[in-house]
Amino acid sequence: MNTPLLEVNDLKVYFPVKGGILMRAKNYNKAVDGVSIHVNAGETLGLVGESGCGKSTLGKAIVRLLKPTEGQIIFDGNDISTLSASELKPIRRDIQMIFQDPGESLNSRLTVGALIGEPFEIHNLDSPESRRRKVLELLDQVGLPANAIDRYPFEFSGGQRQRIGIARAIALEPKLIICDEPVSALDVSIQSQILNLMLNLQQKMQLSYLFVAHDLAVVKHVSDRIAIMYLGHIMEIGDADEIYRDAKHPYTRALIAAIPEPDPSRRGRTKDVLQGDVPSPIDPPTGCVFHTRCAHARPQCVAEQPNLRETASSELTSHKVACHFDL
Ligand code: SF4
Repeated sequence: MNTPLLEVNDLKVYFPVKGGILMRAKNYNKAVDGVSIHVNAGETLGLVGESGCGKSTLGKAIVRLLKPTEGQIIFDGNDISTLSASELKPIRRDIQMIFQDPGESLNSRLTVGALIGEPFEIHNLDSPESRRRKVLELLDQVGLPANAIDRYPFEFSGGQRQRIGIARAIALEPKLIICDEPVSALDVSIQSQILNLMLNLQQKMQLSYLFVAHDLAVVKHVSDRIAIMYLGHIMEIGDADEIYRDAKHPYTRALIAAIPEPDPSRRGRTKDVLQGDVPSPIDPPTGCVFHTRCAHARPQCVAEQPNLRETASSELTSHKVACHFDL
């Protein structure tokens, strides 16, 4: 078996909740609480969950925009979990990020040419003439006109701004891109154009994506495998088609049941429709963190946290679920 490009082992990202006169940490927001995932070279791992489940925090910790509390991030054979900012600089060429809101993530005072050319400047690559030539090539690759180079991000639509964000992310030909809800802020008609662009670039450049989103329908369209996250934990992970066709975890089934489906025979089971809100990650439920919303919960679920285990159906590909029972 090939070594994964990215391996995340038992990663925890806790944020202190401070209080009292001395503002000491009184508790912790356990945004990511022991996550293990991997991404193979050239594949897309979709990471899905409701807002507040920790998926964006996990993405930001992987690119080291956030410091992990515990655990390991192995990228391309190197443990990058504890590297300093200067030690991370060469690694940053190979791991890039696409953000949800390109309007916010792009500096509005810089021209598109300066924004896309900035990664070359940061890494001291190429002469100004050569950078300009590369920026023009990148504009062409993402479907923007050459005259965009001297204009400003606010002159473009949301979809075009996301194309600028993508051009910036692929500028240094990275190996892995963390895509944090890259189409959530866009109209449905524009979403598919951006997704198709990302798929084309992946094929051309052998990119790997960790595709973070709350919309399982969008994630299924682009992913080879899917991981379902809830309250800082992975609930289920496996081949995208298999997860969609034969989900084992009640939370996954509830997410699938929530996808608008015109064919009644393909609608989810009513028992797995989600009730209530996601509990606070500051005081998560004991045992299985999903037990407060699970229609199948039993006393064991309150007392014991289930491990992520291989399901009975995982003969050809790995399909894991974090549930005590075969439901
Ligand atoms: Fe539901 Fe229990 Fe399984 Fe958790 S372990 S998903 S509460 S049945």
